[in-house]
Amino acid sequence: MRGEGVVVSEQSLALLSTETEEAMARQIHRNGSPHPALWGLLDAVVDPEIPALSIWDIGILQDVSVDSGQVAVVLTPTHSGYPAMQDNAATVQRVLNEAGYSEARVETRLMPSWTTDWLTAGARSRLREEGISPPSANEHFDTAACPQCGSHHVAMISQHSGTACRAMYRCMSCHEVFDHFKAIR
Ligand SMILES: [Zn+2]
Repeated sequence: MRGEGVVVSEQSLALLSTETEEAMARQIHRNGSPHPALWGLLDAVVDPEIPALSIWDIGILQDVSVDSGQVAVVLTPTHSGYPAMQDNAATVQRVLNEAGYSEARVETRLMPSWTTDWLTAGARSRLREEGISPPSANEHFDTAACPQCGSHHVAMISQHSGTACRAMYRCMSCHEVFDHFKAIR
């Protein structure tokens, strides 16, 4: 039993460390931007719901541009909505203002709508470090894996854990109770 669990764990880690095509497309867009320093500044803005993740990691930060000296930042809210979005927009403004960009403006883009496929592989591994099972990077299924031991031998305790985007599970291998960040796409 135990050996079997380890094999599943290695498979799931290999899967989760893979970037989705969507996350790769975001990275290519960012790499092609003429404003890498601005993107770098905004890496300091974390999501209030999951402070281990920056707004880039979680897929909220879409674009940064400069037009006639004015910085424009494009954000897409996660499905869980707008209260966090207002915090994010205010923090983006503050970080840019403190760095000397007084003319910063934040735009909200609703389409295409946010998906967990925009999470970076780094975000998935940081979620595991936080004890949260990340959404699957595979478009065909979404399975919870224990963030402690990697086992897929898990049972759902509750559909909702604190926020609608998470479900609560118990690991049947090591008995850890953990949150799974559900895939949204
Ligand atoms: Zn476990």
